[in-house]
Amino acid sequence: MSALRVAVVGAAGKMGRLVVAAILDHPEMTLAAALGRKGSASEGLDVGVLAGRGPAGIVITGLTGGSLGGVDVVIDFSGPEGLAELLPILGEAALVSGTTGLGDALQAALSARAAVAPVLHAANFSTGVTLLLHLVGVAARALPDADIEIVEAHHKAKRDAPSGTALALGKAAAEARGQALGDVARLARPPEAPPRVPQEIGFHAVRGGDVIGHHEVWLLPGGERLILQHEAHHRGVFAQGAVQAAAWLARKGPGLYGMADVLGLVTAR
Ligand code: NAD
Repeated sequence: MSALRVAVVGAAGKMGRLVVAAILDHPEMTLAAALGRKGSASEGLDVGVLAGRGPAGIVITGLTGGSLGGVDVVIDFSGPEGLAELLPILGEAALVSGTTGLGDALQAALSARAAVAPVLHAANFSTGVTLLLHLVGVAARALPDADIEIVEAHHKAKRDAPSGTALALGKAAAEARGQALGDVARLARPPEAPPRVPQEIGFHAVRGGDVIGHHEVWLLPGGERLILQHEAHHRGVFAQGAVQAAAWLARKGPGLYGMADVLGLVTAR
């Protein structure tokens, strides 16, 4: 079988560099292209050098006006603006995206793309968080009246709050109870906020330092407290998961997939 041709969008970023390194190390993948923000300082630089692997013969090119002909899978870690620019130029390629903070319009655009090509979006590519999403659903169903609060912490440069992972955890809890997250989420508690109401899911975002990714789901049925918690020790777990997802997605037909599919936690679709 010929090597999978993979392109990376947001290739000069914290996640992009790790994904590039993981592709260069992968025995069955070839790095086909590396794209970044047009006019950025990294444009024209060899992405293998940026990723700490030595020259790869692929330079970072601007996403704007770019093309992805001959690429099998694109891995995106650029952000909402980059993903919006990427969707119209995907051509035949499958898409793995880890961009968070999407908003309704971009979610809808991803779903539209999934009707014609394979798309895998995950707010968190770690195995532990994928399992946590499953466990939170089990716990929320088993404790239907428990108050749920989600606490997350990330490094000081993170743009979106609460994190995409925190929202995914809230969605898993709400949907396990037959509710839509939008109907039960409480994103902030200003000083004059009324007391919590039954079934509400509260979110708390801590920002500072170099925290990679910390998530806690508190379940408070009264008289006791259950906390389900995950800590990412380094970003490599997200990069490895995204590359694993790309290898998996290349064999799939059109559809919108998640990491639970890759790890076999979803049995029916
Ligand atoms: P970063 O700022 O270090 O990197 C983003 C890169 O994308 C930068 O090089 C930037 O120049 C580039 N970029 C931005 N806008 C662009 C555009 N319009 N066109 C082309 N390139 C553009 O950020 P990061 O920490 O690597 O995170 C990137 C995204 O991935 C964020 O949305 C973050 O929340 C998300 N993330 C997801 C996971 C996961 O497991 N799903 C893990 C970590 C981060």
